[in-house]
Amino acid sequence: MEERHLNIRKVLIVIFTVIFALVIIITSAIVTANSRKKKEEKNIQKDKSLTDISSSISNIVGKFDNNVSNDGDIDKEENNNENNVPEPKEPENESKGVLPVQNPNAAEQIKTIYGSDEKQIYLTFDDGPSGNVTPQILDILREEGVPATFFILGSRAELYPELVKKEYEEGHFIANHGYSHKYSAIYTSIETVMDEYRRTELAIQTALGNPEFHSYLFRFPGGSSGGPYHNLKQEAKAYLWNNGIASTNWNCLNGDAEGGKRTKEQLISRLYETAEGHTSLIILMHDADDKQTTADALREIIQNYKSQGYTFKNFYEVFK
Ligand SMILES: [Zn+2]
Repeated sequence: MEERHLNIRKVLIVIFTVIFALVIIITSAIVTANSRKKKEEKNIQKDKSLTDISSSISNIVGKFDNNVSNDGDIDKEENNNENNVPEPKEPENESKGVLPVQNPNAAEQIKTIYGSDEKQIYLTFDDGPSGNVTPQILDILREEGVPATFFILGSRAELYPELVKKEYEEGHFIANHGYSHKYSAIYTSIETVMDEYRRTELAIQTALGNPEFHSYLFRFPGGSSGGPYHNLKQEAKAYLWNNGIASTNWNCLNGDAEGGKRTKEQLISRLYETAEGHTSLIILMHDADDKQTTADALREIIQNYKSQGYTFKNFYEVFK
């Protein structure tokens, strides 16, 4: 009896030992398999990030090569790099719009544009947007690859918000030309000038869907000096400036608002006549509904100045 019990115990011990050994072997096998799997995953990730790093290094090197290969001029505009391998094309609807940045030295910097002997051109268009003329002007600017500044009217921005947005997204500077363009309404007091400015800023913000937009740049309808409202204009100009808003006129024009219909040829010759004696040009033009010949003359004007080595700029030069 005693011996039988002993035997059963022995058998049980052997069975338990075998089961225990099996459990240990199976567990260690599972652990080893898991850690091998993890190691493999890590290696795959490592390989992937190495590939990413090497491809971004080759991108950077490629870009650097592209930039220096053209006359060694690193800062040269992409548009002029005809010999380079083209960059991957941006999607057509990608916005180039950037919020203007307030500049405490704006007034001084704008003065230096007028006095500069640099061959530079600021194309400026007032009184728009217009449903028929503005799209033509935008097409020409895009095709020629040049920036411009649009001094828009708040009342027109409310009619064509999508055109204001297009101007902005295509990299042009959106500036403020007041709301109504009715001199008697605008030039009643400093407060009415400010009111026109604010309403127009609001119309631009609404068009862009961005309440953070501020143009910081105003063009007085009819110019900031002269005429029956001269004194009020001067006071308003100082008041605007004390509130961080600069203003600018122009130093040459195509004459498209000088009365009567002008042909394309007349606009071009009027511009060359008024630009005489200036090297740095701030050109006054209009993109109102009745300014078809302004759009007709634009390409020839741009191409002529391009061939003379001019650089085209907009007021992001001051508010960036
Ligand atoms: Zn105007």
